[in-house]
Amino acid sequence: MEMFWRGRPGAQGRGAGWILALALVFALALASCQPPAGAGGTAGTEAASGSGSGETAFSEEGLAVHFLDVGQADCTLLVCDGEAMVIDAGNNEDANTIKNYLYGLGIEEVKYAVGTHPHEDHIGSMDAVVGIWPPETLFLPQVETDTKTFRDVLHAAEEKDVPITRPVIGQTYQLGGGRFTILGPLTDYGDNLNDWSIVLKFTYGDCDFLFTGDAEADAEADLCGSGQDLSADVYQVGHHGSSSSTSPEFLDRVDPEYAVISCGVDNDYGHPHWETLEALEEAEVEIFRTDEQGTVVAYCDGETIQWGTAPVVSLEPDYVLNTRSRKFHRPDCAGAEDIAPGNYQEFQGDRQELLQDGYSPCGSCNP
Ligand SMILES: [Zn+2]
Ligand SMILES: [Zn+2]
Repeated sequence: MEMFWRGRPGAQGRGAGWILALALVFALALASCQPPAGAGGTAGTEAASGSGSGETAFSEEGLAVHFLDVGQADCTLLVCDGEAMVIDAGNNEDANTIKNYLYGLGIEEVKYAVGTHPHEDHIGSMDAVVGIWPPETLFLPQVETDTKTFRDVLHAAEEKDVPITRPVIGQTYQLGGGRFTILGPLTDYGDNLNDWSIVLKFTYGDCDFLFTGDAEADAEADLCGSGQDLSADVYQVGHHGSSSSTSPEFLDRVDPEYAVISCGVDNDYGHPHWETLEALEEAEVEIFRTDEQGTVVAYCDGETIQWGTAPVVSLEPDYVLNTRSRKFHRPDCAGAEDIAPGNYQEFQGDRQELLQDGYSPCGSCNP
């Protein structure tokens, strides 16, 4: 797959949903957790070639990680060998989205629920989740905040007799044949609720998924200094892709093959920040984004990770091409909008390359 090209934006359809996502699994990316020896160092996504076609993504076995599209918020559902776990639960207004998604998957029980930290975009609908699927264990960090949203979560837990469990570093919990380990928070972060985020690594077979909530640079530095193994195949990018997270040393230590950014379309914070996207690109990490792709699903059999959708090109394309008329446009040119999907391609690179390839500049946007 040529990584600097992609189809027309939106062609995947926002909210195409997990059924489509899973149905696409076999048509799309199949990549090994461990790149094969001598693979040349590129974080390659290979086309599925029949290996694994005997299994079904709908099977009760295996791990599915659903990064729900809840706008400018986080909500991740893990289903491992039939057991479910929720990490964060969107904003208050996302309760129906989350409930319907879980109902749609036929989730009857949630074994663990994790509210990474008490900001609304992480615990907003946790009261709804706890009310319908009271977890065996509800994790919240050892920090309080004086908001109705936070009190609602405590109230829902009390109503359902769900005790609050505080994260203990190094503690491990089983979910199906997988397990997760608590890596953070490592210390008292005072008023910085983001740094209080519960950090955990989920392991299934050879595959690791790292979740850091909104942990920022200070918490990341503490994680790096803790001597814990931070490496992961999939990294849910900290703090919705903010430049206050994913510091260089931390990214180096995680060394992911894939990154998922959960953020809202045109959000007020400008997430993901270009510094983060650039750092991920430079590290040759393949990126998925809920703002561009809707809900993103990773499926893991313990050896390979397959995605329900192709990774995005993280940076704005330099040019948009009409492969039929051999014209190139600025990305914001009205003429670029009218290109038929089959002839539309995005291009990252030098203008000179296009001219050499026989492309001519659009007369109206003069790229
Ligand atoms: Zn957040
Ligand atoms: Zn936060």
